[in-house]
Amino acid sequence: MTKTKTMTKNMTKTMAKTMAKNMARTGATNPLATNPLSTNPLSTNPMSGDGRLKIALQKSGRLSEMSVGLLEKAGISLTKSRDQLLCRAHNFPLDVFLVRDDDIPAFLATNVCQVGILGQNALLEKQALFAEKYAALEEVMALGFGRCRLSIATPTSFEYRSVDSLNGKTIATSYRGLLEAYLRDKGVEADIVTMEGAVEVAPRTHLADAICDLVSTGNTLISNGLQEQDVILQSQAVLIKNNNMDSELQEIYEKILSRIRAVLRADNSRYIMLNSPIDSLDAIKAVLPGSASPTVMPLQGREDMVAVHAVCEEEVFWTTMEELHRNGANSILVVPIEKMLD
Ligand code: ATP
Ligand code: ZN
Repeated sequence: MTKTKTMTKNMTKTMAKTMAKNMARTGATNPLATNPLSTNPLSTNPMSGDGRLKIALQKSGRLSEMSVGLLEKAGISLTKSRDQLLCRAHNFPLDVFLVRDDDIPAFLATNVCQVGILGQNALLEKQALFAEKYAALEEVMALGFGRCRLSIATPTSFEYRSVDSLNGKTIATSYRGLLEAYLRDKGVEADIVTMEGAVEVAPRTHLADAICDLVSTGNTLISNGLQEQDVILQSQAVLIKNNNMDSELQEIYEKILSRIRAVLRADNSRYIMLNSPIDSLDAIKAVLPGSASPTVMPLQGREDMVAVHAVCEEEVFWTTMEELHRNGANSILVVPIEKMLD
């Protein structure tokens, strides 16, 4: 069995306590304790069914800007409240709670919110620690930002051959649940030291022999003399939901879902326009990336050339454009797509 020591926080504290503490830290008010008699128009009790869908997003951090940006791209325009905890969409039946990412699963589990955006790593960690409480939360869609991986790293002086090298060692992490499950699966017995931040300094301060932390570029590891070894999890931001929506909220949710899908598709697609010799049309169509049926139009005054327009559902690389050119295409134009609905 893997033994666990907790360094900074007693992980068995109730989520409510943690939420209250975090909200105090960030200066936010507790949504569960909002005074319905307050004059603030945003202070209606969020627990009551007011026909508005509630979404929880990270207040400030790596996911915040992209999460709010995604809603804005989906045509949802937000007004921030004075306490900055709650935003109201004025052109859509949606309220946005801005909270710490760690609290998002609890907001959904208690049905304060029905949907949320957070890192897969954060959701899976909560589910690893409190399986029953978060069992009903469901990942709906990967959003393509906030990409990172949860990895084990060791000081360069550590002779690491495989995960077995961690037997009898101490590993510092903020992801005790996921690390424990990984070690259990690999049959490795190690001590886990739970830290809330600055995990990468643990080996230098002799708190641990190795760490398990989130990595994106790897620069933080390198600057702390650490080497990435095993990847436990590949992660990115995901849309999650609870299963507590009545038919009214379900309808709003499905509308948002379809808009977000359309935004992601448009983000990943390009519109390509070019002129092609009629003779090499088939060759050019074959080179066009991720495009099923391009539009082919006559070019005024040219019997030998046609205009080809296509939506390419993937990036168009310089190499592709060069290949199109080699096949006789000219005036090649690649433009981004703002909105797309089939
Ligand atoms: P909060 O104050 O909301 O608790 P935090 O410090 O826990 O914020 P951030 O550092 O903003 O969280 O990271 C949020 C999420 O961003 C992570 O859970 C992860 O999914 C993703 N992420 C992407 N790259 C990285 C990275 N290099 N390090 C940490 N998280 C990353
Ligand atoms: Zn956090």
